[in-house]
Amino acid sequence: TVITNHMPTAELQALDAAHHMHPFTANGELSQKGARIITRADGVHLTDSEGHQILDAMAGLWCVNIGYGRGELAEVAARQMRELPYYNTFFQTTHVPAIALAAKIAELAPGDLNNVFFAGSGSEANDTNIRMVRHYWALKGKPSKSVIISRKNAYHGSSVGSGSLGGMSGMHAQGGMPIPDIHHINQPNWWAEGGDMPPEDFGLQRARELEEAILELGEDRVAAFIAEPVQGAGGVIVPPDSYWPEIQRICDKYEILLIADEVICGFGRTGNWFGSETLNIRPDIMTIAKGLSSGYAPIGGSIVSDEVASVIAGDEFNHGYTYSGHPVAAAVALENLRILEEENILGHVRDVAAPYLKQKWEALTDHPLVGEARIVGMMGSIALTPNKEARAAFASDAGTVGYICRERCFANNLVMRHVGDRMIISPPLVITPEQIDVLIERATKSLDECY
Ligand code: PLP
Repeated sequence: TVITNHMPTAELQALDAAHHMHPFTANGELSQKGARIITRADGVHLTDSEGHQILDAMAGLWCVNIGYGRGELAEVAARQMRELPYYNTFFQTTHVPAIALAAKIAELAPGDLNNVFFAGSGSEANDTNIRMVRHYWALKGKPSKSVIISRKNAYHGSSVGSGSLGGMSGMHAQGGMPIPDIHHINQPNWWAEGGDMPPEDFGLQRARELEEAILELGEDRVAAFIAEPVQGAGGVIVPPDSYWPEIQRICDKYEILLIADEVICGFGRTGNWFGSETLNIRPDIMTIAKGLSSGYAPIGGSIVSDEVASVIAGDEFNHGYTYSGHPVAAAVALENLRILEEENILGHVRDVAAPYLKQKWEALTDHPLVGEARIVGMMGSIALTPNKEARAAFASDAGTVGYICRERCFANNLVMRHVGDRMIISPPLVITPEQIDVLIERATKSLDECY
């Protein structure tokens, strides 16, 4: 039998349960319930196999920045597949899509971040970064500088390397992570961990954990610090304003390479091309993926400073992926960047969508269940709490209320995610004020239903 959108939902669900292992999913439980089947999408809306129109306030997995249904990308992909569907960039060859995309990224990226090493995903790009920063220090005659400092609860991907960089304890508990020489410090989550401290003092204290870690490990052992400008998958944790300037000062003082993981923050999510611009960070390397192609094709990479790239250029870097700079993915990404730029989608974010969303989002704190509401550009979170004054967490199993709320949202045709008891959004950047009203209306209804 040919399996199509036209098959009954139950049959598709049964086949899915029989053969498809879903990522980050208790597949046994899902097979009882049946996965919701998404059949098509347009703009900010998904359609499922039952015909529901669902507002996707997560832009897929924080990636469909230009929105769904942009036929231009399909046309570019088809053209590129006919002309040159694949060639590698390993053995002294290159091709126009990789050249053009690298040049465009270099033009968009701040400072001397002019060099791109392509990968197929954010995880792969962070694996590249682990090897690149260690190799960089080895080439500079300091091979002992191998430790990479990251943060608890960070998400940098799911491969063994990038999952080790990440600080998700649930991931570390399975399958032999972390790899050696990765060290985790605390994140600046004031709401959950700030106690009685004013947020700015807390931000400084958490940033200074980096300095403490460097001194404890030994300056001669630390290669790099990696962090998301605004932590995404950990629950959209917006750092206090004091945090990043102090991190930057410490990285400069001890000559630690700074890697900004821009996989979520990049390509307009925070209102600038890169989160590093919004948060005023000067990284040596940026990790990119997701919004680079708006998720229309799998592609990621590392944007590398002239300094680091020139050192790496001094030797053969024994690293790369079959799909590094894949011509179809690169052509699609280039078309996505053209749309972002020519349609001034960042201008829409800055002038229209982000200010409107911020106002509506922050007003959610009027709801009895909602403690803090944080938002930067088009990524936001609310903390669900039984007691706002005490900034209390729910006593039940972590995530239960968040999970219920997420389920209510889904039933109300709104995709929002939960991380523990934080509800998060990251809608397509092209969302209109009218669509934001619907988002907030459905979110409020869902919150009411769990109260
Ligand atoms: N880095 C960050 C900040 C991410 O949010 C993600 C994915 O969510 C990754 C890296 C991993 O990217 P990928 O899933 O493309 O491997």
